[in-house]
Amino acid sequence: MAEKISFVSKNHIGWGSIQRLNEEAKALGAKKILVVTDPFLLELGMIGRILDQLDPTFEISLYSKVSPEPSLAIAEELVAYTRENNSELIIGIGGGSALDLAKIAAVLATHDGQVKDFLNLTGTRQLENKGLPKILIPTTSGTGSEITNIGVLALDTTKDVITHDYLLADVAIVDPELTLSLPPKITASTGVDALTHAIEAYVSVNASPTTDALAIKAIQLISKSIRKAVWTGDDTQARTDLSYGSYLAGLAFYNAGVAGVHALAYPLGGKFHIAHGESNAVLLPYVMGYIRSSCKKRMTDIYAAMGFNPIQLSEEEASIKCVEELGRLVKDVEIPLTLKEFNIEEIHLEELTRDAVKQKRLLSRSPMPLLEKDIYLIYEAAYK
Ligand code: NAD
Repeated sequence: MAEKISFVSKNHIGWGSIQRLNEEAKALGAKKILVVTDPFLLELGMIGRILDQLDPTFEISLYSKVSPEPSLAIAEELVAYTRENNSELIIGIGGGSALDLAKIAAVLATHDGQVKDFLNLTGTRQLENKGLPKILIPTTSGTGSEITNIGVLALDTTKDVITHDYLLADVAIVDPELTLSLPPKITASTGVDALTHAIEAYVSVNASPTTDALAIKAIQLISKSIRKAVWTGDDTQARTDLSYGSYLAGLAFYNAGVAGVHALAYPLGGKFHIAHGESNAVLLPYVMGYIRSSCKKRMTDIYAAMGFNPIQLSEEEASIKCVEELGRLVKDVEIPLTLKEFNIEEIHLEELTRDAVKQKRLLSRSPMPLLEKDIYLIYEAAYK
């Protein structure tokens, strides 16, 4: 079958790549720049240091009210601000929360109507144009938002997305140095998020030789670096490997999609405000354990990419060991492995199931069909 692969057209990746920001902003021909970021990064001094590199002739305004797992309300506020502000270029700096809002603001600046009109699950309108140019600069190694066409928002009980290639960045700048300040807990959750992207892309029904290559390399890089990056945050090699891993995983899942882990994680983020990375991490071993029998060969490849030798093992044995190693990795980086530890009670499982079932776009990529009863059983296993 023929495959269509899309990428952000310009990527700078590696140590020191942030120095390319000024020339890229100039090349996009804008004078008025809106920077979208979160208050913590501003306070940390990181935003000041990055913006100091920009030519003083740029007129810069700042929106720094981004909160983790951003809500629809904050997206509506930012879009209104962007329209009033007559911005010509958007620069998003931060984790996936800031980058997703930056993309949504850039594209909706040149549309009328509200953000909710364009949401995937509940909206009715289609995007008509690409909007303002955007440069995206991640400061976590996790979401891959800088190279995907998705913007995620938290609703009351679940999450919804705006998805279109108009959301793709004009330029992505991935500088591992910007992740040195990440504390262990966020390094862990965002790193497992990236690993989940690569694993779900690799077992996706839409996987292709191109996305397989990206996903396997991402799994190798993340598996060998995540513990080091969590335990020794100033290990520059581990930070570099994790940045590349997150970037490659983003490219893989943008083209092959993510599936069951994300479908079940979205309600945890929407209703219980559990950080995206943690909600993926707590479910990863359970979802992969449940669907293992439908993708044993691919789970064996994942086990090998994680650094283990499957030669003496059958695919049945290697795929079981793969699930065990995923659980061990999540435990080693100190993310809880049960829903109970996130204060979710058994009484919530039915409601979570009803919301996860609505994520048909995500569930459609699972190698094993996941029906309502399957989803409940996975939540139940993760609860206990
Ligand atoms: P985040 O952006 O919510 O940031 C989490 C915390 O980390 C924040 O408090 C932030 O201030 C802090 N932080 C960020 N960079 C830091 C640094 N360098 N040093 C110290 N602290 C830092 O976290 P995230 O996991 O990157 O993004 C999560 C969001 O991304 C969710 O809304 C999720 O749904 C979305 N997401 C989007 C995509 C996509 O393709 N667009 C993919 C996956 C997830």
